[in-house]
Amino acid sequence: MGLKRAVVLLSGGLDSTTTLAYAVSRGYEVVPLTMSYGQKHSRELESARAVAAHYSVKKHVMTHLDLSFLNTSALISDAVDVPKRRSLEDVSEEIPATYVPARNIIMLSIAAGLCESVGAEAIFIGINAVDYSGYPDCRPEFLEAFQHVLRVGTKAGVEGRPIRVEAPILDMTKGEIVTLAMKLKAPLHLTWSCYQGGERACGRCDSCLLRLKGFREAGVKDPVPYEATR
Ligand SMILES: [Zn+2]
Repeated sequence: MGLKRAVVLLSGGLDSTTTLAYAVSRGYEVVPLTMSYGQKHSRELESARAVAAHYSVKKHVMTHLDLSFLNTSALISDAVDVPKRRSLEDVSEEIPATYVPARNIIMLSIAAGLCESVGAEAIFIGINAVDYSGYPDCRPEFLEAFQHVLRVGTKAGVEGRPIRVEAPILDMTKGEIVTLAMKLKAPLHLTWSCYQGGERACGRCDSCLLRLKGFREAGVKDPVPYEATR
């Protein structure tokens, strides 16, 4: 038996870095896959590179996908602002402006292609449905449906070795994610979660607020510098 291999979607944020650390702890040789798609927070790409280097991965696939035509998303279009809030209580039930149309379908599809080409048996994705359920492509029913797509729509699936989608932090709170990251000694100082592209994290976007909540709940100080924290 050779080493078991997995593709890990690595954005460079807290969740994907913890997910990568988890895959490594489970004995996988990981192939991180990082996509730049014109996101404002391109700073996270440097983080992804640093995290991959921290784990001395043999192969880190970084690819550019021009999604600039998806200009309804605040993560891509300069015409749409990233929402800034006072607290998480201000986050509404609606799908937020930071939703990138069909992003996880797009990314998992590319990850599936990479899996087949490198002989990986699983895709690890750091999606989470607990603290932030506003994104439809972060829900368990989406994952189950995509699992079916992989069974019927890939060579590996048809040959009886379907690629598994693993989402180890799907049901965790942000506090539990930070606690797991600490236990796995994930390099959280290298990660970047802020949706804004600044030198310091803004402390006001949904992603910053959730990250800060996670560190608070875990009783750990966030090593990343902030403009403003509550
Ligand atoms: Zn922010």
